Amino acid sequence: MSKIQYPMLWFSQEVGQDASAPWKFFKVDGVLMNAYDFMQHPSAFRKVKEQKIHDYLGFQGPVMMDSGGFMFMKKNIMDVSAEEIISFYEETNPNYGVVLDHPLFPTNTDSENQKRKLKTLQNTKIMIKKRTTKNPILIPVVHGYTDPEIKWYVNRLKKMGKFSIYGIGSLVPALYNVKGVGGILNVMKVIMEIRKQIPRAKLHVFGTGGTLTMHLMYYAGANSLDSSAWRTKAAFGAIQMPGIGDRWITNSVRKKPYPQLSKEEKEKLEKCRCPMCRNYGLSRLKKDFTARAVHNAWVHQQEVKKARKLMKENRYDDYVSKIMKKTNFASLFSTIEKTKKSNKITHS
Ligand SMILES: [Zn+2]
Repeated sequence: MSKIQYPMLWFSQEVGQDASAPWKFFKVDGVLMNAYDFMQHPSAFRKVKEQKIHDYLGFQGPVMMDSGGFMFMKKNIMDVSAEEIISFYEETNPNYGVVLDHPLFPTNTDSENQKRKLKTLQNTKIMIKKRTTKNPILIPVVHGYTDPEIKWYVNRLKKMGKFSIYGIGSLVPALYNVKGVGGILNVMKVIMEIRKQIPRAKLHVFGTGGTLTMHLMYYAGANSLDSSAWRTKAAFGAIQMPGIGDRWITNSVRKKPYPQLSKEEKEKLEKCRCPMCRNYGLSRLKKDFTARAVHNAWVHQQEVKKARKLMKENRYDDYVSKIMKKTNFASLFSTIEKTKKSNKITHS
């Protein structure tokens, strides 16, 4: 695996979705898979242990394996142990492996959330102890919504060892629990607080959505993100426009309120250099899920490359500020700008 350049993006993929794998069409930063997903598919589970994850995917770049703690919680049963997860990681050989975590929900009681935090910390300890090799690099996951909660949690982790990268979990329900942009403001505050407390290690934020939210997370101090939005939006018939957000291009029933393409946007799209637009044009995007998924992944990857370049040149914050002012994140963004300045967050 070549050295990772930050900020970076992991393309979250599901078992059995090989046809739309973007790395078969162009170079992507990394791929994120879920242990839970493999455990639900016995033949894939056997195959990935036999071939190891890189050959299984046909991708030799960085691979992260998440436990899928979030999916286990959705089912409301955690029928897997930390021991099973670490041995699955060691058998399949991803570059990074995420600690089996018990995500919090803003609507849970405090004592339920506290129980889950203790469980995740316990799993972290077990996974450190039970591993027999140095691969994969373990990513502990920080959970907490308030500053004191985060401080307590981070201190507990620091006592277990030194980690080169930390994950930030439990943010997805916070994102969608509050109507409008309030949710995302809370998310940004959590990221900025963790950045303040862990100034040097890399931070990975789980499950972040489209390209605009992606820029918000990097801006707040995340180094690493994962997204399945390129795929889920393609399934809804939506495409990602660089620096703009989502647009609706199919005639199917609208499930989500994305705006349609304007004339100027159509012209912009005609200039898209992704493997699908370049070879087949907009008509293909309209009728083909794979074409939309590959286009969306391409736009995500281009935005990340742009973020990397602008950070190097010290121009990233200005860029994010410029694009946010044209979106409905505008008022929230000025709050974030102030917090970032007072926390003295820089992109390292
Ligand atoms: Zn395209």
